[in-house]
Amino acid sequence: MKKHNFSAGPAILPQSVLEQAAAAIRDFAGTGLSLLEVSHRDKEFDAVMAEARELAKKTYGLGDDYEALFLQGGASTQFCMVPFNFLPDNDTAAYTDTGEWASKAIKEAKLFGNVNVLGSSKESNYTFIPKGYTVPNDAAYFHCTSNNTIYGTQMHEFPDTAGVPLICDMSSDLYSRVIDANRFDLIYGGAQKNLGPAGATLVLVKKSLLDKTVDRKIPSMLDYRVHIKGGSMYNTPPVFATYVCLLTLRWIESQGGLAAVEKMNREKAALLYNEIDSNPLFNPVCKVEDRSFMNVTFTIAKPELEEGFLAAAKTASLVGIKGHRSVGGFRASLYNALTLESVQALVDVMKDFAQKNG
Ligand code: PMP
Repeated sequence: MKKHNFSAGPAILPQSVLEQAAAAIRDFAGTGLSLLEVSHRDKEFDAVMAEARELAKKTYGLGDDYEALFLQGGASTQFCMVPFNFLPDNDTAAYTDTGEWASKAIKEAKLFGNVNVLGSSKESNYTFIPKGYTVPNDAAYFHCTSNNTIYGTQMHEFPDTAGVPLICDMSSDLYSRVIDANRFDLIYGGAQKNLGPAGATLVLVKKSLLDKTVDRKIPSMLDYRVHIKGGSMYNTPPVFATYVCLLTLRWIESQGGLAAVEKMNREKAALLYNEIDSNPLFNPVCKVEDRSFMNVTFTIAKPELEEGFLAAAKTASLVGIKGHRSVGGFRASLYNALTLESVQALVDVMKDFAQKNG
């Protein structure tokens, strides 16, 4: 039996995507070759890359003023690639510190220039999203993390940066909701949550931002302009991962696009938060208005029952529920492909466990 996969990433993908990916591993596009053994220069893969790049933009309502890239190196490489390209030595970039990944992005930026941390929730173990700051108009750019995978907070609004380039790590809520993507100058994310398997990193970059590329020597592999000029194939791209991302983007379209996907995601999160709030055995972790509807964190009122609850979840075929070590408790990731039925299965286990142990 297929398990209910609540893992934070790599994570659940739509069943139909897995089946198409499996078929392509046996025979890719009628070539008589596996997707794993075709040349990335073959016309069949060329078509995949072109469609994936186009659909990545179209799904977010982006037009010809943006470029889409499928790169390697994970979101973690973007932590350094962004400042390498856009933060001059003596300038300052503005960041918010909303979690472990945001703080890693800050650490990398400091290798290249100055960093002004406009807001941080570190002191409260990142249980809320800092607000009320103003982005200085001389900042090289403003960087934020839309969804904090480990802590379970999410930005439900993005600040007005008044012309300062807006750059966002969207690794854990890519394509999960309707956003005004045209407000962003650069969006990046590891594919391995909502978009595909590990191995591809999506970058959506506004062409006008490239005019602001710093005047320093940048190694080719870390230069956005080089990848754009190479059509996202300057070097061997992540062939399999990009193909699966394309299948997932087509799946999103088949579901009715981001509006439909967001509706499902909100329904799933409401079901689970409602149980956490009403079940006396479980407690929420984050401030209500900043709760993520992708990664739901919660704890148990009687910590001695933690292992027992994980065992009950396992018996019910629920996997990936254990919280990250820096938060403890539990984390249920409700990515696009997870069904309402899976969330209901988790809620049922919570109810049943509370009844037996409450
Ligand atoms: N940013 C966020 C928000 C993440 O959740 C992660 C990974 N979980 C990363 C960055 C790092 O991504 P990668 O492992 O692809 O480098």
